[in-house]
Amino acid sequence: MNLQHWRYEIDAHKIAWATFDKVDSSVNTLDYATLKELANIIDTAEYSPEVVGLVIQSGKKSGFIAGADITQFQHCKNPEEGLKLVLYGQEVFACLEKMEKPSLALIEGACMGGGFELALACRYRIACDSESTLMGLPEIKLGIHPGWGGSIRLPRLIGAFQALPLILSGKGLSAYQAGVLHVVDYVLPKRECENAARDIILKGLALASFPHRLISSLYRMSNMTGVRMLIANFIRKQIAKKTVMQHYPALEALISQWQKHGVSEDAYANEAASLVSLFPTETSQNLIRLFFLQTRMKSGAKASILINHVHVIGAGTMGGDIAAWCALNGIKVTLQDRGESYIAPAILRAKILFEKKLKLKHLVMAANDRLIPDVKGDGMRHADVIIEAIYENLVAKQEILKQMEQHAKPSAIFATNTSSIMLDAMNTALSDPSRLVGIHFFNPVAMMQLVEVVCGEKTSDAVIAQAMTFVKQIKRLPLKVKSRPGFLVNRILMPYLMESVKLVEEGVPMERIDQAAVQFGMPMGPIELADTVGLDICLSVAKELTEHFGGEIPKALLDKVDQKQLGKKTAKGFYTYHRGKKQTQRIDCVVSICIEDIADRLIYRMLNESARCLSEGIVEDADMLDAGMVFGTGFAPFRGGPMQYIKTVGIEQIRARFKALQEQYGKRFETDDHFINAIS
Ligand code: NAD
Repeated sequence: MNLQHWRYEIDAHKIAWATFDKVDSSVNTLDYATLKELANIIDTAEYSPEVVGLVIQSGKKSGFIAGADITQFQHCKNPEEGLKLVLYGQEVFACLEKMEKPSLALIEGACMGGGFELALACRYRIACDSESTLMGLPEIKLGIHPGWGGSIRLPRLIGAFQALPLILSGKGLSAYQAGVLHVVDYVLPKRECENAARDIILKGLALASFPHRLISSLYRMSNMTGVRMLIANFIRKQIAKKTVMQHYPALEALISQWQKHGVSEDAYANEAASLVSLFPTETSQNLIRLFFLQTRMKSGAKASILINHVHVIGAGTMGGDIAAWCALNGIKVTLQDRGESYIAPAILRAKILFEKKLKLKHLVMAANDRLIPDVKGDGMRHADVIIEAIYENLVAKQEILKQMEQHAKPSAIFATNTSSIMLDAMNTALSDPSRLVGIHFFNPVAMMQLVEVVCGEKTSDAVIAQAMTFVKQIKRLPLKVKSRPGFLVNRILMPYLMESVKLVEEGVPMERIDQAAVQFGMPMGPIELADTVGLDICLSVAKELTEHFGGEIPKALLDKVDQKQLGKKTAKGFYTYHRGKKQTQRIDCVVSICIEDIADRLIYRMLNESARCLSEGIVEDADMLDAGMVFGTGFAPFRGGPMQYIKTVGIEQIRARFKALQEQYGKRFETDDHFINAIS
């Protein structure tokens, strides 16, 4: 066989081992060339008398198979070419599934999208019990759905009730979760995987695993014709509670396809046709662009360092959660505060996070062991990164910086999580100000993907590079921003929040304001968001921004903070909360304003500020600004970010709308030369 991307070896037991190791690539992705070689392998193994079965594994350290090569679909000249590629993948996997000889996927590391579809087409699957093992069908996150049989084989294997939520959310399964759901036949330590694969190929599954398959067959009843409509409608309702389904056409496409064809053989052709029709949608184009922007953000982390020890000072809301997140991601963390009693709540929160994320006892214990309370601050001497996260006060923070400089090892970098103090004001306390960088996490740390890497005038390039790499190491997306008030995300978000409070003052019901934003595609309305962040925090950021950039703070916000109604944390802000849950209120509309106008007022404030940030060079370019807003605030991902939204609507139309809004609501909708420069 003439193979470039795969190795094919037959062992002493007559088992063929196909090892995927794509040339000139650090990860395995499937495209026409690699599929063609796989087809060749399947054929050879099936028809060689000296082969009894086929094991498929990866030759890459980075994982099993990351998925299909999306660029190949993007380069298709027309839908017919795309369809041909999808059907070819289906054909290869069908051959794999129909092999008379047993086939087995030995999965270690990421096994996503097309890679997981390949594994599903094998007769057996073994998952290596490692933290890096993750499998799933994340296509929905790109505005499409699986096309190589995944949306048929997964429900066929574990039933639609279990499979559809996984496909529709795009969530990945750890090895443990895949074992519990019987997506894989065995989850085994790495040292046992090869022998087990050999045993299964030679002898089939052990009797002990048959109850698994029996349980799955019960779940599989959910694919039967009579119940499909009921289940499909139930799933639609569940999704509609959290998402505006029209924004993501792939959701409905997948549900209706399953409702109509279930897991029958005709479903394959429909899956392929439906996938190809989704590619050109605006949603898919925008989501695919964001996917590549994530790669670009990660590729900005180029320093070749590995952080082993982080020291965090301040165990409050942010410091405690940053420490927990670093420990979760395998780093030793020492956590310092003014006394044990300040650290204890953070350790408790961390335990809950570890249990939720890691599930297995030994992994939870190891993470707990990595997080060390350190009142005296001894860890400062040994840490590679020291993060200051004490309360927002310049003098107190400078005092901490002086201690860092005195005790830290020379190679350590100094980071601050400040939201509002300029780095160039803070670093005057250091004899070497080039060591200070902002590493600005968002709240809640475990949920927000973006971390702003804030660069002061004096921050050295090497320190910025190390900070970027550290952020990537803890599985967050680093975005380089200039140290200017509000940095990027808060600066753009604040006018949007202030406009929402202004609307409240005008008598527009809060639910209606939030509804307008959610309908636009934001994950949460601005009033609810302000309550969640804390109205005191919003006010302090707003004060700082108005001081620098002008504008006014709505009185309703000042009053709320005066009355100590700070939002969710005090059970009362703009909304009232009971046990953390927002209480619904009656909608009495005092003013007449349509929902589209409300949305425009909110969103256009953001657009204006985005263009200003771009013209001031706060962030590298429009792509990075969009990525920052989507991953830092959840800005409607299917719209691609503020700058992409301007492009989609059209510059002329955007300017005309600004003009109309300015005439009706005043100067805050005025667009200056910066705006024109930034968007043209
Ligand atoms: P917080 O008040 O919850 O916690 C601050 C902690 O620092 C407290 O536990 C306090 O005991 C401790 N501390 C104070 N002085 C100390 C000292 N000298 N030595 C050791 N510990 C000391 O504050 P927070 O909300 O976690 O904010 C911390 C930083 O993060 C601030 O700079 C804030 O601007 C920034 N930030 C906050 C948010 C947010 O949503 N809360 C988001 C992003 C950034």
